[in-house]
Amino acid sequence: DTVRVGRALLSVFDKTGMAEFARGLSEAGAALVSTGGTHRLISEAGLPVREISDLTGFPEMMDGRVKTLHPKVHGGLLSVRDNAEHKAAMDTHEIGAIDLVAVNLYPFEKTVASGAGYDDIIENIDIGGPAMVRSAAKNHRYVTVIVDPTDYDEVLEAVRFGGVPYALRQRLAAKAYARTAAYDSAISAWFAREIDYPDVGYRSFAGTLREVMRYGENPHQWAAFYATGENRPGVATATQVQGKTLSYNNINDTDAAFELVSEFDPAEVAAVAIIKHANPCGVATAADLVTAYRLALRTDPVSAFGGIVATNREIDATTANEIVKVFTEVIVAPSATPEAQEIIAAKKNLRLLLTGGVADPKADGLTVRSVAGGLLVQGRDNRNVDDCDLNVVTRRQPTEQEVADMRLAAKVAKHVKSNAIVYVKDGATVGIGAGQMSRVDSSLTGHRKSIDAARAAGLEGALTEGSVAASDAFFPFPDGLEALVAAGATAVIQPGGSVNDAKVIEAADAAGIAMVLTGMRHFRH
Ligand code: 5GP
Repeated sequence: DTVRVGRALLSVFDKTGMAEFARGLSEAGAALVSTGGTHRLISEAGLPVREISDLTGFPEMMDGRVKTLHPKVHGGLLSVRDNAEHKAAMDTHEIGAIDLVAVNLYPFEKTVASGAGYDDIIENIDIGGPAMVRSAAKNHRYVTVIVDPTDYDEVLEAVRFGGVPYALRQRLAAKAYARTAAYDSAISAWFAREIDYPDVGYRSFAGTLREVMRYGENPHQWAAFYATGENRPGVATATQVQGKTLSYNNINDTDAAFELVSEFDPAEVAAVAIIKHANPCGVATAADLVTAYRLALRTDPVSAFGGIVATNREIDATTANEIVKVFTEVIVAPSATPEAQEIIAAKKNLRLLLTGGVADPKADGLTVRSVAGGLLVQGRDNRNVDDCDLNVVTRRQPTEQEVADMRLAAKVAKHVKSNAIVYVKDGATVGIGAGQMSRVDSSLTGHRKSIDAARAAGLEGALTEGSVAASDAFFPFPDGLEALVAAGATAVIQPGGSVNDAKVIEAADAAGIAMVLTGMRHFRH
């Protein structure tokens, strides 16, 4: 699947490395065609090269606005080589195939950054360049497209060895579209600023505008919701059955809730999460949904007020009846029975979102966050404790029930803002400490909340007595672990990896608890 380069079209603004690349192509037997400035450079290097105007039969015109926008160029790039009709069209119109295109674009971004004026910036919107790049990339089955001079060497090497392999053409095509997408994004962002309307709809994001919200996280912030087109069950693809429109915060929190319950396979266990401000205030698994809901609610019934409820299984009437007893903002579930929908319909404002299934916790994907002047992008945290070997490091071994609870605690901790401490007992959270700046504080918060929850349930002491606890990251010192022991934890799961691991293990042994290391951290900031 290697393509020999018979003819190459070179049209670059940034001429770095072009003379050597052209020489390499020429020596490998490729015929060269080029636009004005690039043509001059190549012919001055003493290489045979044809002018694009000679190929098209049209002069470059209108200050270079129209140079390569011609069927002889785009037909040569886009034709399917073994298609009889395409071949006939090429013969009739004397269009020759173009096997390689090296283009880099007018420096739009640099022109904007230099503080240039409006007209100057407009003139630096490249039209023919992106058109060629997109044509060539579309037809990567036959054509090699290069948008970055750092790729010349790899391509030249391939050309010298007889041709460009498919895998390389495909990778370069993907890079080409990334470049044209970024280029158009830069144009759109500049335009939005220029017309003093840096607002939704005029600004391009990597997505399709789904909805313009009344406001963002706060009433003075604008906001919009974009769908990325990923075809996976989730907030962006869910159907809203009833209730008010979702706010920015609702969507954010609903996503957190749904991603959390999706960690639990509905074929194995029913799972419910109640979320407030993107943190779970109760999570439970059980044989049936209503039990899981009751247990999740028990963790922190005060915080659950105005919360978001997510389930990993179809909502039945019994569960719906329980949920509507508490003021709830959103319910998100794979599905809901007609009876359940009827019960929920009595609460007009309560939103019900149906996703059609749980999200695949192992799916790839991106998380994006803005920083001043930039974007931070990373792969989704698509692993959990089930991918880990559990390494018992204490003298005491955990019981089977403790291991099951530790797995649950670790999965929940992954979805709690760091520093995260999650106490679990018998398949349900009994205390969650979220977002504290010290692990000791998170341990204490979870414990304190479990005392409140016990009181609310008419019980003495704390629900954390005899629980297991998970920490999202290692304990830098024994104090965090000691706080868990003081709360009544009998087993602890954490990634390990601190220079102080030995001291923490010693503290666990001294307290007579079991401790398990996973080797996997789940920061969530
Ligand atoms: P050169 O220096 O070779 O004269 O011009 C190269 C630049 O022209 C490249 O940045 C290429 O993207 C751009 N270009 C090629 N064809 C066209 C066209 O038809 N219209 C416009 N506006 N730019 C083009």
